[in-house]
Amino acid sequence: MFNASLKQLSTQLSEKKISSVELTEIFLKQLQKLNPSYNAFITVDEAMSLAQAKAADKKIAAGQAQPLTGIPIAQKDIFCTKGLLTTCGSKMLSNFVSPYDAGVIERFNQVGAVNIGKTNMDEFAMGSSNETSFYGPVRNPWDVAAVPGGSSGGSACAVAARMAPAATGTDTGGSIRQPAALCGISGIKPTYGLVSRYGMIAFASSLDQGGPMAKSAEDLALMLNVMVGFDGRDSTSLQRETEDYQHDLAKPLTGLRIGLPKEYFADGMSDDVAVATEAALEKYRQLGAKTVEVSLPNAHLSIPVYYVLAPAEASSNLSRFDGVRYGYRAKSYNDLDDMYRKSRAQGFGAEVKRRILIGTYVLSHGYYDAYYIKAQKIRRLIAQDFIDAYKQCDIIMGPTTPTVAFDLGEKNSDPIQMYLSDIYTSAASLAGLPGMSIPIGFGDKNRPIGLHVIGNYFTEAKMLNVAHQYQLETDWHLRSPQFD
Ligand code: GLN
Repeated sequence: MFNASLKQLSTQLSEKKISSVELTEIFLKQLQKLNPSYNAFITVDEAMSLAQAKAADKKIAAGQAQPLTGIPIAQKDIFCTKGLLTTCGSKMLSNFVSPYDAGVIERFNQVGAVNIGKTNMDEFAMGSSNETSFYGPVRNPWDVAAVPGGSSGGSACAVAARMAPAATGTDTGGSIRQPAALCGISGIKPTYGLVSRYGMIAFASSLDQGGPMAKSAEDLALMLNVMVGFDGRDSTSLQRETEDYQHDLAKPLTGLRIGLPKEYFADGMSDDVAVATEAALEKYRQLGAKTVEVSLPNAHLSIPVYYVLAPAEASSNLSRFDGVRYGYRAKSYNDLDDMYRKSRAQGFGAEVKRRILIGTYVLSHGYYDAYYIKAQKIRRLIAQDFIDAYKQCDIIMGPTTPTVAFDLGEKNSDPIQMYLSDIYTSAASLAGLPGMSIPIGFGDKNRPIGLHVIGNYFTEAKMLNVAHQYQLETDWHLRSPQFD
């Protein structure tokens, strides 16, 4: 049951071998057993989940089932959920009950999926290890000494530990792909604009994108079919014809040209990651693909560029939260000003404060041109590198992260080292390209390793095809940590 694919669960539900209530109870039980050790969830409302499951059972009985009807899904706590706490991992929102559902949540509700709980995350999605959460760190289910990655670490842990069959995440610079890699699961960040950001608490709006995290590419396809779609309430939402993300899964990979950016295969990745990546590429060659060297000459600038642009956007977003939380209680301007200063001092954790400082600095008079405008120009060059590379290949591959999961506390005192976790993922974010991570083995201390697959714009179906064909031949995606 815990290793069943979404399709298998869906078949069992429609054939009435199990009810959604029973399925939800099974996962809730697993969650209650494991969550105290892993801290993957911030909020679980069993009564709500079971009520949704009951409604799903009715839908199934009435013959109105869709592929995810009745299936429990863990939702990252960045998505607003009506009547249920939405904290974004922050003390600032520790009592925030949203009056409305995020666009993504609405879409899951429409198909009758069950919300099994809200997952832990780095505060305001700023982090790579889940250690910035006000609710405490999440543990990696493969090794409790290790971080699960971040910011969608709760979602990655929930899926890896089989506390939920699938989860949502969001990715600004790597937050779906990096935790997916470190927890040994599959995750995809779609092309920017495909998934609604309405009610998805903003970190850096020109980069943020929601996406699914699950065991396999096939499961990701079913999740994307629900998550992708135009939303007029998000001004960056793209209006495109609907697509069934499963339609290319079965295609053979003969003749596929895989681009290997020479900059990603230079120094920097650890030996275990290099060995697993090469083995995965060899498997792709056996499946009929060819590998070609490509170049992304500006990719090495993506971390510095990201850490100018993302904090710049975040600092303007976050000051609004101060206003929302404290503004309504202020009686005068001075009062408001005072509350604003206090909330700054008390409400945010250290990493968020650091981002606000950087963001304010790079946007300030005298530095704006030197940092913000310069970073925007380099962002354009980074995107152009990919456009040029795709003249020689169909898809790009490399490692998702330079190392396996690091230990809790290991990078806390060195923000630059922490930021470098996203060295391979942030360029695709800046270019707005889709990126995916799939499990390809285990490295140091038996911790999981992920392969990073970057597609051209709107080629999610192709990417899932490429991942699925690999998963038909390997079983890394079916491995799960052992629990007593
Ligand atoms: N680790 C990156 C950061 O801290 C990316 C986070 C994300 O993608 N949300 O900003």
